[in-house]
Amino acid sequence: LVRLEHVNKHFGELHVLNDINLDVTRGEVVIVIGPSGSGKSTLCRAINRLETIDDGVIEIDGVRLPEEGKPLAQLRADVGMVFQSFNLFAHKTILENVTLGPIKVRGLPKAQAREEAMALLERVGIANQAQKYPAALSGGQQQRVAIARSLAMRPKVMLFDEPTSALDPEMINEVLDVMTDLAKEGMTMIVVTHEMGFARKAANRVVFMADGLIQEEATPEEFFTNPQSERAKDFLSKIL
Ligand code: ATP
Ligand code: MG
Repeated sequence: LVRLEHVNKHFGELHVLNDINLDVTRGEVVIVIGPSGSGKSTLCRAINRLETIDDGVIEIDGVRLPEEGKPLAQLRADVGMVFQSFNLFAHKTILENVTLGPIKVRGLPKAQAREEAMALLERVGIANQAQKYPAALSGGQQQRVAIARSLAMRPKVMLFDEPTSALDPEMINEVLDVMTDLAKEGMTMIVVTHEMGFARKAANRVVFMADGLIQEEATPEEFFTNPQSERAKDFLSKIL
């Protein structure tokens, strides 16, 4: 469903994505982990075309990443993204945050957009907050709204870039639970996270990045118990 072939990206002298090859099949949950600065966020941003690449190919569902205009808007709808900072529209209610994209981009009638949005808010456990503004919600609640807002676009794949790292500890699990449910329902997901519990529970594969390279790929079980490279061993010794 998501295919990267020989993807390269430089920031000046820095080779931030170094010949990345990655194939994510439908329904697969891939965790991307690695030290700070290894290129994880850049990888996510490239898949969503928030960042251009120097060369290589990125395909979503068999369609090569488009350059701009309408095809790009379609791509953004197909590829949902949730960031560390929740990025909700502060001056819109929770419900409006979730209905805006479907009305504007998917062309849904208002009533239908509301109905779908309420169902999604129900699913992430926030339906009773629909009329509030983002500032009135906790971080964990806001992040669940951000997930609902992405899902409202009916994406084919969801990207998560450290979705829980800005949250207080007691709110991390409520977000991870939503993500675990999503994984169980068969959503294709690429998740940058250091949450090992989530990785073991929900992931099919762990991709370990360092210095812009995919150093290692394995099942969570293999990776956490028996990492192969020195880089991975060193990294795990620091975070476990
Ligand atoms: P972290 O775990 O800290 O989030 P990361 O693996 O997500 O790190 P990236 O954000 O992808 O790392 O950054 C990879 C490298 O590229 C870093 O050295 C960063 O400083 C650099 N970088 C990222 N964005 C830019 C940019 N817009 N211009 C220049 N350099 C950048
Ligand atoms: Mg990052």
